[in-house]
Amino acid sequence: LSDKLDKALHVLKGHGSITEVNVAETLKEVRRALLDADVNFKTAKEFTNSVKEKALGQNVLTSLQPGQLMVKLVKDELTELMGGETAGINLSGTPSVILMSGLQGSGKTTFSGKLANYLKTKKSKKPLLVACDIYRPAAINQLHVVGDQIGVEVYSEPENKNPVAIAQNAIAHAKQNGFNVVIVDTAGRLAIDEAMMAEIADVHKAINPQETLFVVDAMTGQDAVNTAKAFNEKLNFDGVVLTKLDGDTRGGAAISIKSVVDKPIKFIGTGEKMDAIDVFHPARMADRILGMGDVVSLVERAQEQFDEEEARKIQKKIAKNQFGFDDFLSQIQQVKKMGSMKDLVGMIPGAGKALKDVDIDDDAFKGIEAIIHSMTPTERAQPAVIDGSRKKRIASGSGTSVQQVNQLLKQFDQMSKMMKMMQGGGGKKMMQAMGK
Ligand code: GDP
Ligand code: MG
Repeated sequence: LSDKLDKALHVLKGHGSITEVNVAETLKEVRRALLDADVNFKTAKEFTNSVKEKALGQNVLTSLQPGQLMVKLVKDELTELMGGETAGINLSGTPSVILMSGLQGSGKTTFSGKLANYLKTKKSKKPLLVACDIYRPAAINQLHVVGDQIGVEVYSEPENKNPVAIAQNAIAHAKQNGFNVVIVDTAGRLAIDEAMMAEIADVHKAINPQETLFVVDAMTGQDAVNTAKAFNEKLNFDGVVLTKLDGDTRGGAAISIKSVVDKPIKFIGTGEKMDAIDVFHPARMADRILGMGDVVSLVERAQEQFDEEEARKIQKKIAKNQFGFDDFLSQIQQVKKMGSMKDLVGMIPGAGKALKDVDIDDDAFKGIEAIIHSMTPTERAQPAVIDGSRKKRIASGSGTSVQQVNQLLKQFDQMSKMMKMMQGGGGKKMMQAMGK
């Protein structure tokens, strides 16, 4: 934790404004966040290069609020990469026919139910679900269970082994019975094969759907991209459904798929329940992908909160060996101004996830502050004068123990030494000290 925190903060501390180094460091973090989110390496690299170019082109370095401009550049670029606008679905037919495609286990049957439920409750449609998975009787049952749950009729012909005929009969049934949307759930194989592709292509050709959706498991990462490519070549589908984007799944597949097949992502599935469906919003997905590794807003906040004047004063003091506990206290207050420790840690890529269950104490600084408050001005400026009896007094004054006071003094001493070495550019000396 502290390694990562230090690293992220290191970039920002002491830099009053965003420098070229800062832009590069920030983009490195963004790239790491993208890779963490399963975006392929090439896309991630192109992305950061393009943002960097724009940042330099727009004079981020000399703009009034470089942090904010960087945030905007990164988010805009990411949003653009995922299609920019939200893409709707075509419900113009009478009935509108929606065909589901995708591998087995990708979530077609579940999503068919979710979409039917969504269209029924949110769009006041009367949907019909169609079971065209002719290989597994259990699949037909599964769709019936889903249909019962959401109160939507399911059309199936358990004895019929011709999916094209079933789909056509279902559409005729829909016309006769006033259904205005027909959602055709199909069979999938565990891997792409010719027979399966031919079958879905036949259904596609016979029913000429308004919408052909390709359903893909967001957790399959790079495989998702290859599958999307194969289905698109065969079906020229209209949109993508990304399933299993629950909780922690970062959804980098959204970026990669979009950049490979150039079809909009229309919906996402976020759980097993029937209401776990969302329209896909590129801008929100951009937020999510940067999400737990929101370095960019860390940059922004640090930018706002770190008082440059203060930072310069402190650097001078360190140089003159005058850094005391009062300065330490004001440093702590600066850090606290940036927000809670939990918030800060959450912005570090990877750390948010890793530390989800770890309790981070926002009161971590309280004891330290109390001890410093119990010191006299002389003691704060020259900690060396603090002897045994002073330690006792400080401990009882701050409601801590002599041991805690000792600990702080020791840490402070180490920190002062370290800062002095860094000031003197004494990288070598520091390495030596660390070696010890
Ligand atoms: P199909 O073979 O393509 O029809 O896939 P199913 O709809 O049967 O889904 C396969 C498994 O994935 C089932 O256990 C579903 O409950 C699960 N599933 C589908 N969509 C989601 C989702 O958005 N989130 C989660 N967590 N599970 C899902
Ligand atoms: Mg199924």
